[in-house]
Amino acid sequence: MDCSEYDDRDEGVICPRCMGDGTVSCHCGGDLCVCDNYGERDCPVCFGEGDVSPEREAQYLKAEGEAMAAMRAAWPTPTDKEGGE
Ligand SMILES: [Zn+2]
Ligand SMILES: [Zn+2]
Repeated sequence: MDCSEYDDRDEGVICPRCMGDGTVSCHCGGDLCVCDNYGERDCPVCFGEGDVSPEREAQYLKAEGEAMAAMRAAWPTPTDKEGGE
């Protein structure tokens, strides 16, 4: 019973927010960062772990979906103007 190749960390999935990096871009923008994180900060979803529980992923995806729906409702034509700078 050689199970050495089996990775039993099946609790964790790749964090959907940072894609496993553990960090995300802050919204200050690199050199002009005003939060002292120099463009990166710990991922708020996985707290820098890079992976999350399936439950947490589902929770995040659901929240993200609701946020996007709210944005669409707020801005009837979201493609009208690309939010550049
Ligand atoms: Zn993350
Ligand atoms: Zn920043």
